[in-house]
Amino acid sequence: MWYSEGSREDVRVQTGGAVMDLSSVLALPSTLTVDKIERSTQGLTVYLHATTSTVFCPTCGTAGSRVHSRYLRTVADLTCVGQRLRLKLLVRKWICPLDSCPQRIFAEQFAGVARRYARMTDRLIKALQSMGVTTNGADGACLSSSLAMPTTPKTLIRHVLELPLPKESSVRIAGIDEWAWKKGARYGTILVDLEHRRIADLLPERSVESSTAWFKKHTEVQIVSRDRGKIFRAAADAGAPQAKQVVDRFHLQKNFAEALEKFFGHHKRLLKSAAHQLAGKTLAPQVAVTRQTEQERKDRQTERVRRHKKIWKLYRAGYRKEDIAQMVGIGSRSVYRALEHEQPPTRHRRHWTHHKADPYVPDLIKRWNDGCHTARALYAEIVAQGYTGSLRAIERIVAQIRPQGANAVTKQMITFQKTPSPRNTALMIVRPQESRTKDQTAFIVQLCKSDPTAATAYNLAQSFGSLLRNREGKPGLERWKAEVRASGIAELRNFMEGLADDAEAVVNGCTESWSNGMVEGFVNKVKWIKRSSYGQAGFPLLQRRVLLHPHSIEPIKRRGKRAA
Ligand SMILES: [Zn+2]
Repeated sequence: MWYSEGSREDVRVQTGGAVMDLSSVLALPSTLTVDKIERSTQGLTVYLHATTSTVFCPTCGTAGSRVHSRYLRTVADLTCVGQRLRLKLLVRKWICPLDSCPQRIFAEQFAGVARRYARMTDRLIKALQSMGVTTNGADGACLSSSLAMPTTPKTLIRHVLELPLPKESSVRIAGIDEWAWKKGARYGTILVDLEHRRIADLLPERSVESSTAWFKKHTEVQIVSRDRGKIFRAAADAGAPQAKQVVDRFHLQKNFAEALEKFFGHHKRLLKSAAHQLAGKTLAPQVAVTRQTEQERKDRQTERVRRHKKIWKLYRAGYRKEDIAQMVGIGSRSVYRALEHEQPPTRHRRHWTHHKADPYVPDLIKRWNDGCHTARALYAEIVAQGYTGSLRAIERIVAQIRPQGANAVTKQMITFQKTPSPRNTALMIVRPQESRTKDQTAFIVQLCKSDPTAATAYNLAQSFGSLLRNREGKPGLERWKAEVRASGIAELRNFMEGLADDAEAVVNGCTESWSNGMVEGFVNKVKWIKRSSYGQAGFPLLQRRVLLHPHSIEPIKRRGKRAA
């Protein structure tokens, strides 16, 4: 010990003349004086004492008369030039002079340095909190330990949970949407201040009641941007009757793309023939299959139909879709898909849209045009680059381009051997022209050339997109509806008729500039934060990590160009 039995006179200053300024160097209050600094393999230990002459009783407020005893209190502090730093505070215990005071003895506190009973300084806790908010418990603890501020995930999370939530501010333009705790099973609600581009609040559930309650607290809301679902619509009706409701462009565009996907799903052959024509081939006639594989296909089809009927039977019996998925032993997405049509599925062929060789196609073409014409040599070259597919796949590509002989081969000849899926085609089509790739444009041009109905669908998609982007309002929408009616495309017509149910908000969606695209960005952010907690985050932790995150005002942008 560097002092004997707690008498202040024995405190020996060992660091010479520099002592005076040390507490300010360490950014500690001037009422603390550094007595000594020790350095060991454990890091630095700074011994300090308070220089205040009187301390007031926390119970009665009377100044303490005399010191009863002293003891050393250890608190961990921020890392100091890479070394672990600990403060040893010499604490005086005072005697309260007031006889009637129940507090006989009290210890002095170090306001601004460490809270009562705390084992860490306030500034260390603050640093841990910001690590905890930006990372998760495990990573934060790992990071802080490597920075010489050892802690445990549990402690880190406890400190994050101590953080107060930001004060609710006023929101004029609110975007509302859901986010998934667990997809298909449990959802929460996110509210975004679209005007100031920040998350306004996060609710633990997706229900009419909780969203209504939020709106009732925010009577200043003037515009609610939402999807076409019933929940948020009912909540906005009940909680914010003063507000104008807008079905946002993002969801309208998304629903439209889904209708388009259904259309192309029913006309897959169109896609296939367009892709083949583009690749310079005609569509091969249906090849006769051997009896055995034909039998296998029939069996598979019987099985599909049986499963479809079972799903519908369970659905009518009132089971939840997720439970049906478990009972039938398939994914819940497949159940949703099966419940879209009551008719059992017809036989279909699978379209492979991705292949392991895809990333190597530009290289293969370059090497081919350089004069390397053997499949085996090309295969060896891309294997060296990391290709893990088969030689057979490369042989197939070579067989496709071999008839070109000495002519230069282009990427298109190979890329469009594979047919885009109905979903990809739908997405390609709704996208504005300037954000499509060359290949996609070529495919769409070919598709429209080869089939007048596809061309009509394309034109309707483009006019719908521009109607939303240019906010053409009710007249534009009515004009577009008439075009859809005239087109005779059932899938798009169904979509259009579905809009009538929520007509006013849809018209607002075609008029107002507000869109939930930003909300989607924030939903991605919530998802990312939730997953980075390894699913361990309870709602209070998730809420703090989302609302207090330094970037909670920056939605994660979706890849690709944004629509103008
Ligand atoms: Zn007292």
